[in-house]
Amino acid sequence: MPLVCTGTIGIDTIELPTGERREGVLGGSCAHFASASRLFTAEPTRIVACVGDDFPADLLEQIDGMDNVDRAGLEIRKGSKSFRWGGKYLEDMDHRETLFTHLGVLEEAPPPVPEAYRSSEFLFLANSHPAIQAGLLEQMAGAKLAVFDTMDLWINVARDDLVRLMGQVDGLVLNFDEAELFTGKRNPITAGRHMLADAPGDRLRFVVIKKGENGALLVHRDGIAAIPAYPAETVIDPTGAGDTFAGGMMGWLASENPADPGSIDAIRRAMAWGTITASFNIEKFSLDRLREVSRKEIDDRYAEYAAMVAFA
Ligand code: AMP
Repeated sequence: MPLVCTGTIGIDTIELPTGERREGVLGGSCAHFASASRLFTAEPTRIVACVGDDFPADLLEQIDGMDNVDRAGLEIRKGSKSFRWGGKYLEDMDHRETLFTHLGVLEEAPPPVPEAYRSSEFLFLANSHPAIQAGLLEQMAGAKLAVFDTMDLWINVARDDLVRLMGQVDGLVLNFDEAELFTGKRNPITAGRHMLADAPGDRLRFVVIKKGENGALLVHRDGIAAIPAYPAETVIDPTGAGDTFAGGMMGWLASENPADPGSIDAIRRAMAWGTITASFNIEKFSLDRLREVSRKEIDDRYAEYAAMVAFA
């Protein structure tokens, strides 16, 4: 089934605890998501994003070089500035500080959704301003599964837009720190339940709370599920781990097309694929690992993980 991802494509600066600093690497929630979902989708993952005309040609080439991504929805806007973000990882590699966020095109109107994308069944609104996410959702209102992601900046500056959006989608994926910031609750189950209760109406069925190396928790209207992380020995750059988790999860759902893709069973199984996909992302800088990983490597690690977490 067709899958659309909207979000940011931008230019990242990454600082590691070793003091190493990389500038001008390909980033953005949509870029990371698509690098993962494309490994699952039968048809190319459709991306909707906007960059300025200052966007470097070599980063554009990196996007073009990814198989199974349809970039007809990527607008290069004349006279606008690209989104730029810098992050610095703390010693544990599981927490980071934002060094800067230059919104650029994110402060302008969202890009138009190509006509051919509008009837897509699966929709992921990756991190962006919630008002932009809502504007894009409106153009794809018929999606049978619509899920969005958010982060601290938007909780701080656009909370009302965020709450409105929570009433218009089936699911929400966010980090534990962000769920805590949103609800003021230290316990992730309590935080998830509060978010389900805070969403206007009754469309929102589930909240996935990512906890980095501690796995992910699903708080669903029909119950709770927990998924451990894949134990990793090498962590080079965790940037995009959240987006590639969502990419694996939504890519698997779009390819399996379960009868009820928002059910607790479908989401729980999809989270396991998201976990495995994200475990590759952290092994190299930027999108470097997911650009080269094969579906067989994903499947093999999934089988290893399934054996690791199974008990009678
Ligand atoms: P993740 O590590 O999964 O949280 O995603 C990191 C990616 O999100 C980076 O490549 C950034 O360019 C992008 N990003 C950072 N802050 C924002 C934001 N406020 N809105 C949208 N995307 C962002």
